[in-house]
Amino acid sequence: MSFQIHHLLIAGGTHGDEWTGVKLIHAFLKKPDAFLGRTFRTSALISNPEAFKEQKRYLDRDLNRSFQKELLTDLSVSDREVQLARNLLATYGPDGTDPADFVMDLHTTTAATGPCLILSHPSLINLHFACFLSEAIPNLKVALWNGDRKTGFLKDALPNGVTFEIGPIAQRTWNAEIYFTTQSAVLAALDFFTVWNAHPEHFTDKSLEIFEPYQTVMYPLDANGELGAMIHPALDGKDFSLFSGALQAFMEPSGNVITLPLDGPSYPMFVGEASYYEKNVAFYLMKKRKMSLANHPNWT
Ligand SMILES: [Zn+2]
Repeated sequence: MSFQIHHLLIAGGTHGDEWTGVKLIHAFLKKPDAFLGRTFRTSALISNPEAFKEQKRYLDRDLNRSFQKELLTDLSVSDREVQLARNLLATYGPDGTDPADFVMDLHTTTAATGPCLILSHPSLINLHFACFLSEAIPNLKVALWNGDRKTGFLKDALPNGVTFEIGPIAQRTWNAEIYFTTQSAVLAALDFFTVWNAHPEHFTDKSLEIFEPYQTVMYPLDANGELGAMIHPALDGKDFSLFSGALQAFMEPSGNVITLPLDGPSYPMFVGEASYYEKNVAFYLMKKRKMSLANHPNWT
């Protein structure tokens, strides 16, 4: 059995107001040395160039929620991002003209997550990729964002893939630490596929610590249906910190504290992420567990 990566897709600007990925893709396109001399081909893509031009997260709807089968096949849906998703799939999708085996989608967050990888399904290559990057990027967290493919993320549209998130950084800003950590992650990814294709013996059974969401916590609304509370200061900026018992989650303008019972040891993620206000999402609660990885399929 052979399991080689022939074509890697690196995407930035899936959200048009996140500059880091766009700046990196521009730099790679200007000087593609890092992509050359490998056993696989790399395509670098600005996913939503029109949204970047307008400096918006999206034009009609979130591109990173548009790779849903129902939307893509319903030809009455003409949102620009859905059309963009159709075009991207027509090129890079499994039945496209230039199919990619793996996508690394570069994002930033306003939340204090540090560097993290989000996997949508625990395929062997996704898990080994996460393990490899954990060794290259200090304090990298790995989240497994459940197995269903209804969310419509870009990374779910291809056979394998990950989202790289890093924060905190404001939308429409540029920051050296965030930029160079993301660059290190991309270079580590290129090394991963080089080793994956040539040295399966490197990928023996291992274990990996992962975070999985178990609850989406919404902002409390006031009597008028408006945002009624702020993230509690004891929680703000505490992504991936351990909480147990009752969580001090929110503070109302009166100073009243709203607590939330936790289902055992819990770790918040995307605390107060700015782009989630439009959906009233305040943060996610995650559980931590260890996963075992099997050997590379070419190594028995
Ligand atoms: Zn994003």
